[in-house]
Amino acid sequence: MRKGAIETDSLISVSNVFKNYKGRKALEGVSFEVFGGEVLGIIGPNGAGKTTLISLLATINKPETGKISIKGADILKKPDIIRESLGYVPQETALYPMLTAYENLDFWGGIYGIEKSVKKEKINEVLKLLKLYDRKNDKVKTFSGGMKKRLNIAASLLHDPEILIMDEPTAGVDLLSRSTIAELIKRLKKSGHTTIITSHYIDELEELCDKILVLWEGSLLYFGSVKDILRSASADNLEQLMLKLEEA
Ligand code: ATP
Repeated sequence: MRKGAIETDSLISVSNVFKNYKGRKALEGVSFEVFGGEVLGIIGPNGAGKTTLISLLATINKPETGKISIKGADILKKPDIIRESLGYVPQETALYPMLTAYENLDFWGGIYGIEKSVKKEKINEVLKLLKLYDRKNDKVKTFSGGMKKRLNIAASLLHDPEILIMDEPTAGVDLLSRSTIAELIKRLKKSGHTTIITSHYIDELEELCDKILVLWEGSLLYFGSVKDILRSASADNLEQLMLKLEEA
């Protein structure tokens, strides 16, 4: 970048996105931008559209209308290039229970096309990062839910993605897993990575995120820092939101 120039280009740009499932609206006119190195938290009650939104970013789903660009490229036109930049952790873990943690990562390393010469080192690195190195030779069927979640996150990091997208990574996991995931997000931010997570816990997002996006019945209700949201939300709206999130 030119000396003194201000970087204004967003890394991810979502513009007026609509998504329906068989006529049922899941997202309605959602627009926002994410800048490199930011942590974005997406929050909202059950069915608000959080998973739908991140599945569009991860190119697993396509919007009916609207545009999503990552690094200036339309994700529908360059899905392969975009996928190289993304690590995606879905809500459900995708692991082979009869294989060990190492063998599962070896499998995923093959899917990502990681060269044999670096694969072993990379697998050990992500195992250490997610505090699973001492269990690397244990079968996944002996793992707790939190350990499985951490292993899935480890798999998504094997190809060194610039952007990590995680769908409710801390839902229903133990305290060690929750703090390991929080540490990982902070560490990734320090090294310039961008992270997007969905969550039902506003306190957790407040601690980790630069910006928060609140989805409500498919529409963007608020987008900004927690401070901005608390400042701009009317008391009634906020109370309603908190109640809905507690129910979720
Ligand atoms: P949760 O917190 O429960 O995971 P969410 O905010 O992630 O919810 P989505 O899963 O994105 O919400 O769902 C948004 C809406 O789209 C809901 O009404 C849901 O029923 C609907 N929906 C999601 N996926 C599908 C699908 N594959 N087919 C039909 N409807 C769907």
